[in-house]
Amino acid sequence: MKHDSDVIVAGGGLNGPALALALAQAGLTVTVIDAAPARQRAEDAFDGRAYALAIASQKLLAAIGVWGGLAGQAQKMMEVKAGDGRPGEGAAPLFLHFDSRELDQSPVGYMLEDRFLYRAFLEAMQAAPGITLIPETQVVAQEPEPGGIAVTLSDERILSARLLVGADGRRSGVAERAGITREGWGYGQTALVAAIEHELPHEGIAHQFFMPTGPLAILPLPGNRSSIVWSETDENARVISALSDEDFLAVLRPRFGDFLGRIGLAGPRFSYPLNLTLARAYAVPRVALIGDAAHGVHPIAGQGLNLGLRDVAALAEVLVDALRRGEDIGAIDVLERYQGWRRFDSTALALGMDGVNKLFSNDNPILRAGRDLGMGLVQALGPLRRGFMRQAAGLGGPMPRLLQGRPL
Ligand SMILES: Cc1cc2nc3c(=O)[nH]c(=O)nc-3n(C[C@H](O)[C@H](O)[C@H](O)COP(=O)(O)OP(=O)(O)OC[C@H]3O[C@@H](n4cnc5c(N)ncnc54)[C@H](O)[C@@H]3O)c2cc1C
Repeated sequence: MKHDSDVIVAGGGLNGPALALALAQAGLTVTVIDAAPARQRAEDAFDGRAYALAIASQKLLAAIGVWGGLAGQAQKMMEVKAGDGRPGEGAAPLFLHFDSRELDQSPVGYMLEDRFLYRAFLEAMQAAPGITLIPETQVVAQEPEPGGIAVTLSDERILSARLLVGADGRRSGVAERAGITREGWGYGQTALVAAIEHELPHEGIAHQFFMPTGPLAILPLPGNRSSIVWSETDENARVISALSDEDFLAVLRPRFGDFLGRIGLAGPRFSYPLNLTLARAYAVPRVALIGDAAHGVHPIAGQGLNLGLRDVAALAEVLVDALRRGEDIGAIDVLERYQGWRRFDSTALALGMDGVNKLFSNDNPILRAGRDLGMGLVQALGPLRRGFMRQAAGLGGPMPRLLQGRPL
């Protein structure tokens, strides 16, 4: 049966384009449909949103051909420091310190602004002969049919493919229409996000202060700038968001501290209500979910996009290997290989971050004492640590080729 493309990806945020580029590189045709206008997110007004990219994610970006143009815009992260914090109290003892000098001097990760990453994806998709991008259009319906799936767009076009991938974010319509239910809960917290300019250099060090009402991450950007992800109770966040820039900084200063000298805002402020949302399945016949559509997590450890890119690497590898063996890439036995590879890892990490946030977002003196001794963290990181150990021990299955920087 002839289809419009091999794969339709609903969602042109970050994970959708990454998957499209990986598949197109391996010779598949992909149609990417995105509800948002294509260039909006690439504009400079979006300054301030940034991602902490793990080294494996950076290798994937290199393997799909977008890192070359991004390297000059990324900030190397050489150290990560985490400790308790209370407004106005200055630096508390650290209970976690990753230092690249203990390894081989290579960075712990990279910080990259959303506008640069999105722009690189957009330009690479527009240049890829196998990719058709349809912006400002929604997927509104989907219907499996023999050998494929028919997808209806908001402009009433109907396209068909062997496989539909839901990369349509936390409220995934693709998942809902496929009958995939979700579990999760709200955190009662909102993340306040902004770019901050400061007097002194950050030396490539990322900081996480665990405040009683939620964590404050200070993440290095190129120059004397850092991105903050400041989680507060919903009520506090509502009040802080409504403040003028000057008053916002007055509330931030005692939390941020003075270790980087004078601080000011370097762009607009954003706020994101935080919740955990996990899809109960990542695959049903003719449909697979990736990224936030599969798992929306707390930003406490900056892992959301990294998790999504692991989905991209695993799904792309499963599909390309299946194609080479002459299998149907939309068949459930193929898609179950992807689900088996990814679901345990993502759920363990999501619940690990959930536990860390719950343990640290409070002012219980006993917990604070335990945390300062490092005991709380070790306990809280149990699921996380086991997840990493599984990976290190190879129990989570082999690392996908793209995350090793290898071609598919
Ligand atoms: C405050 C905050 C800080 C974060 N910091 C980090 C960090 O440091 N490191 C990290 O790794 N991650 C971080 N994350 C997580 C990261 O932002 C997400 O995991 C990532 O953006 C998810 O990308 P996605 O492509 O899966 O979904 P999205 O970026 O949500 O994209 C979904 C896309 O689908 C489109 N869409 C929706 N419905 C339809 C439809 N019906 N038809 C067509 N298109 C549709 C939307 O227009 C959108 O473009 C953070 C998140 C938050 C909230």
